[in-house]
Amino acid sequence: MSTDARIPLAELTEDELQTLYDERDAHRNAPVLRTCLVPGCIKQYDALSTMTGTPPPRPELSATGWKQIGTGSIFPAGGNICPTHVDIVTSHLPRRLQTPSGRWSIDCACGWSPLPQRWHHLVAALWEEHLLTELGDLPPAPPITDPEHRTPLAELTDASLDELYDRLEDAETYTQELREITRAAMLGYSQAVPALLGVKTSLEALHQRISLDSRDWTHDKTDAWLYAILVGVNCENTDTGHVHNDIDCSGDQALWNLGRQHDIPTDQIIRTGHLRWWVANAIKTAQQIEQAGDDA
Ligand SMILES: [Zn+2]
Ligand SMILES: [Zn+2]
Ligand SMILES: [Zn+2]
Repeated sequence: MSTDARIPLAELTEDELQTLYDERDAHRNAPVLRTCLVPGCIKQYDALSTMTGTPPPRPELSATGWKQIGTGSIFPAGGNICPTHVDIVTSHLPRRLQTPSGRWSIDCACGWSPLPQRWHHLVAALWEEHLLTELGDLPPAPPITDPEHRTPLAELTDASLDELYDRLEDAETYTQELREITRAAMLGYSQAVPALLGVKTSLEALHQRISLDSRDWTHDKTDAWLYAILVGVNCENTDTGHVHNDIDCSGDQALWNLGRQHDIPTDQIIRTGHLRWWVANAIKTAQQIEQAGDDA
């Protein structure tokens, strides 16, 4: 029913009223479609029925098997991946990197990284091109120095020569910029690593001192807090295949139990969990750096 055919109230029949209600309901329940982030993929699911827990309007709009990537990725609004593309996107999961010079690049899960760009939306497009190349939808880009693509002297024109000079200039600029980026990164690294290794030594000394003390560290509230941060009360085994058990691990509830024992509010228990995670993560990262140094 179009809007120009408006029926005065006095002439409205029961059937016409029903049609109006049906149209209104159809608008209210219109699917909210989300499309797969892989360029060219037209698979969609209905976000509305997923949210409300009702069956999708059509079976092919079901959210089963779809995965989401968060807003912290290279896509400012996040993204959706259809079941067919979950594997390929997972093996090329992009993490946004900011260089010391303020440019943007990507750390792809496969090790690929584009040249840093000044506008962060560009790296998302470069990653899409990389994904399409990996999927085989795009032919691999030939290197511009590929001998097979060299133009013989007789065929060079003013325009093609200009193009070559432009590329040379770009390459020189990039080399200079990359040198500056590398220098800033090395400088940051050479300052951060000794600081982190020093903190690790101190934290390990505290851990050892507390572990060797015979006192009951759970009895006093402040002691318990120090213990929870510096030694940790929950199981920290991250081995794949490890399942918490009662025999050789303390499970994932010990911090909650300790908090309850001292009537500590939930937000403070969560905060303590974060403080512990930062300590454990700093030690783990420092160990990885040492390990990499030993291997080199
Ligand atoms: Zn897809
Ligand atoms: Zn990749
Ligand atoms: Zn465990």
